[in-house]
Amino acid sequence: MRVWDGVSDARISFDWDTARSLGPRKPTQPTTIAYMIENVNTVSALLGRLEELGGVDTFSSTKVDSIELGADTEQLDLSSWPVLSLSNGKSLAARLLVGADGANSPVRTFAGIPSRGFDYSRHGVVATLKLSGPGWGGPDHKIAYQRFLPSGPIAMLPMPGNFATLVWSTTPERAAKLKSLSSADFVAMVNAGFRLSPTDLQYLHTLPSGQEEEIAWREKHTPVNERSIPMRVTDVQAGTVASFPLRMRHADTYTGERVALVGDAAHTIHPLAGQGLNQGQGDAAALVRTISYAVETGQDIGSTLALESYNSARYAENNAMLGVCDKLHRLYSVESGPIVGLRSLGLRAVDAMGPLKGFFMNRAAGGV
Ligand SMILES: Cc1cc2nc3c(=O)[nH]c(=O)nc-3n(C[C@H](O)[C@H](O)[C@H](O)COP(=O)(O)OP(=O)(O)OC[C@H]3O[C@@H](n4cnc5c(N)ncnc54)[C@H](O)[C@@H]3O)c2cc1C
Repeated sequence: MRVWDGVSDARISFDWDTARSLGPRKPTQPTTIAYMIENVNTVSALLGRLEELGGVDTFSSTKVDSIELGADTEQLDLSSWPVLSLSNGKSLAARLLVGADGANSPVRTFAGIPSRGFDYSRHGVVATLKLSGPGWGGPDHKIAYQRFLPSGPIAMLPMPGNFATLVWSTTPERAAKLKSLSSADFVAMVNAGFRLSPTDLQYLHTLPSGQEEEIAWREKHTPVNERSIPMRVTDVQAGTVASFPLRMRHADTYTGERVALVGDAAHTIHPLAGQGLNQGQGDAAALVRTISYAVETGQDIGSTLALESYNSARYAENNAMLGVCDKLHRLYSVESGPIVGLRSLGLRAVDAMGPLKGFFMNRAAGGV
């Protein structure tokens, strides 16, 4: 992975070859830093596995219309149980209701758990891009790129073949402009995002159209080492350009009586480190451990006591990651002055320290 400062051009690259320059790879160290998996593949693999395991009812294309506490009747006391009314007319009573229902979680609202934070006044523009080749590392050694611009980072994440995913965090106005451009102007802007100066980019966002010609002219006067940045984008897949508002939110707690929150229902993070879904998967794994222990020890899996270990296993870790990404966003939003010099010095220092980089990569790769 290659990361650099769009103002000072200070760089850091994460790959095992440079990190190992001061020592051999430990057997516990993975050989790949990260995998890029499209969400659709993760979801279909999980659904396939659920079907294989059996014993699970799935309701496709069904909405949870409302959640209320159940009734206390002569046969059954459901007064502490959440009862879900589904759009297919069914209703379900839950011993434990797991809210994996995103940033605006209806389950969190039902449980009365406050979620605090703020909006970044930034949108993440995403798109599927076609490149002029498989990438500088060839088809088997894919490289991800991220350039920190004062308005937010622009990242290109590799996909199979000659394709890549764009995540460009920028102001809502610039996001709207990018989405309004023709394909040719949009492609030119993405190429410019990795090549031209923040001042050039600021000007280019003010043009109603014609970015392609303007950028071609400006690039002639801006020498870059093409092999240190992503291969040129040649096309954008129709219908893939979209944008999402970026927020930082953290629920006060992940558990309540017969309720547990996972993923974005519990926390929403800036995407600059690509950690949102990873955090959610960490939550799911920790919740499974908690439920297994409760079952093995004969506890009620919906009681706050049984769920407490899930909250303590995940809250602090997620909070630390939310803080790191927030600080990085703030650090790189600064356009000039001593902060730019200091952050560039820090980046270059870490880049020169093989073992320290190895530590970061090991953490990112899920190693020990
Ligand atoms: C621009 C951008 C780029 C990102 N890039 C990365 C990345 O590279 N790597 C990474 O790990 N993360 C990334 N993330 C974060 C990642 O997308 C989220 O963290 C992840 O999608 C959260 O998953 P989730 O299942 O918790 O919530 P969601 O994906 O929001 O899913 C919630 C689901 O609940 C359903 N739902 C909600 N209410 C109801 C209801 N009443 N009835 C029925 N269903 C309901 C919704 O339809 C939805 O399917 C990025 C985010 C953004 C905005």
